[in-house]
Amino acid sequence: MPALPLDHPSRESVTTIRSDGSRAFLFPSDARGRFNLARRISALALIAFYLSLPWIKVNGHPAVFLDVVTRRFHLFGVTLAAQDMWLLFFVITGMGFSLFFITALLGRVWCGWACPHTVFLDHVYRRIERWIEGDAPKRRALAAAPMSATKAFKYTLKHTLYVLVSAVITHLLLAYFVSLPEVWAMVSAAPAEHWGAFVFIFIATGVLYFNFAWFREQLCIVICPYGRLQSALIDDHSLVVGYDVKRGEPRGARRASSAAATAALAPAPALGDCVDCNRCVQVCPTGIDIRQGLQMECVGCTACIDACDDVMTRLARPRGLIRYDSQNGFSGQKTQWMRPRTLLYFFLLLVGASVATWALTTVKPANFGITRITGSPYVVDATSVRNQFLVRIVNKRNQTATFTVSLTGAKPGLVQSGFESAVAVPGMGEIVQPLILQLPRATYSGPFKLDVRVQDAGGKYTLVRPVEFLGPDARLLREEEKK
Ligand code: SF4
Ligand code: SF4
Repeated sequence: MPALPLDHPSRESVTTIRSDGSRAFLFPSDARGRFNLARRISALALIAFYLSLPWIKVNGHPAVFLDVVTRRFHLFGVTLAAQDMWLLFFVITGMGFSLFFITALLGRVWCGWACPHTVFLDHVYRRIERWIEGDAPKRRALAAAPMSATKAFKYTLKHTLYVLVSAVITHLLLAYFVSLPEVWAMVSAAPAEHWGAFVFIFIATGVLYFNFAWFREQLCIVICPYGRLQSALIDDHSLVVGYDVKRGEPRGARRASSAAATAALAPAPALGDCVDCNRCVQVCPTGIDIRQGLQMECVGCTACIDACDDVMTRLARPRGLIRYDSQNGFSGQKTQWMRPRTLLYFFLLLVGASVATWALTTVKPANFGITRITGSPYVVDATSVRNQFLVRIVNKRNQTATFTVSLTGAKPGLVQSGFESAVAVPGMGEIVQPLILQLPRATYSGPFKLDVRVQDAGGKYTLVRPVEFLGPDARLLREEEKK
C-alpha cells in the first residue's frame, strides 16, 4: 500500500486517487494543540450522546425510538404515529435551514466538529490505528514494508477491532429502531429466529467496517453532497479555515544562523512567515494543502491550525498564520456577520423552527380516523335512513386510555350505536369498531354534515372529524311513502 507523496498535493486530481485510478492511502500526522483538545472533548461528548439516546428514557420511551414495526416514532418525549409524519417535513426543513445558516456563518464547522462520520473516524477508528501501528511515519513504513509476522499481527488486530467496534455501533443503531431489550433478546437468540435483524446487522457492520477501514475521507470528498453545497452556501464573509497569504508569502525555508536553537531561525526580511515546512499538509486528513486556497476537500478539522500554530510558536512568531477567519478577513477587510444571506437563512430557520414547534406541541396523545363502510353509502329501510362508518382510535400513550364518542351538528332524532358508552384503548394500542348513525324516515330531510368528536376521559383534548350523513332525495322518499 504505497503512501501518497503529501509534500505538494496537486489540485488537478483528488488526493486519494492516483492517476491510474487506484486508492492512495493517507497517513496524516498527529496535530496537537488547543483545537485538537477541544475537538477531542466535544467528540467524546457527542459519541456519548449518539450512543446513549436509546438508553435515556423520556416519558417512558427511549429519547429516540423509531418503532417501525408498530409505526410509532418517539422523539424526545413526543410520540408520533404514521399519520403524524407530515410534521417531520417541518422538522427536517428546520434542520436543513439551520445547517444553511450555520454554514453561511461558520463554514464547515459541522463537518469538522459534529458530523458522526468525522467524529467516529477521527476519534475512534484512527485512534485504534494509531494505538496499534504508531504515529504517521511508522504507519507509512509499516504499509510499505513486505508482509511479516509483526505486520500480519498488527493488521489482524486492527481490523478485528474495527469489526468489533462496527458491530457495537450497528447494534446500538438497531436499538434506535427496535429498543435495547429487543436488541438484547435478538443477540441472545439464534440468528435463525431473527433473520431480518441478523442480515441488517451483518450488512450494516460490513458497510461501517468498509467505510472506516478503507473508504474513509473519500466519503467527504467524493460522496457527501454537503461538501459540494458548501461553495453555494458560503461567501467571502463566512468563517473558514484558511491561510493568511499576505502574511505567509513569499514562503521559504529559513537558514539557521546558529545550530544552537530553533529560536535562532530568524525570518529573512524578504520572506513571509510560512517556512514551507509542510506540517499543515502532513496533518491534513484529506491530504490537501490549505495554502492553495479554500477547497471542497477541507472538512474544517482545524488540524492544520494547530500544526502551524506549533511551528509559529517555535519560531517565536504570532500564531494564526492558518486560522479561522473569513476570506475578507484574510485580505484585510471587515467581516460582516449580518448580511442578506445570513438574514434570509435565519428567517427561514425561524419559520421552520416555529412551525415545527407549533406542529409538535399540537400533536395529540391519540389519533382517530373515520371511514365509511364499503358498499352502499346509505341504507333505507321501512323506518329509517342509516349510514355506517368504521371508527379507528389510536392510543399513543403507554397507559390504557378511555374515550367517548359524540356527535355535534346532528339532526334531531339521529341515533348513534356502537359507541353508546366510553371505550378503553390499551396503551400503544388501537381499536377499530363500527359506528352506525340512524335517522327516522319521518325526520329525514336530505343529506347533511355533522362532526364526530372523540374525547379523552379527563376532557383534556378532543379530536373532531367532519362526516356527511348521506341519503336519498327527501322529496322522492316522501313520494315513495305516499304510494
Ligand atoms: S505549517 Fe505553517 S509554516 Fe508550515 S508550511 Fe504550513 S503554513 Fe507554512
Ligand atoms: S485543510 Fe486544514 S482544516 Fe481543512 S481538512 Fe485539511 S487539516 Fe483539516
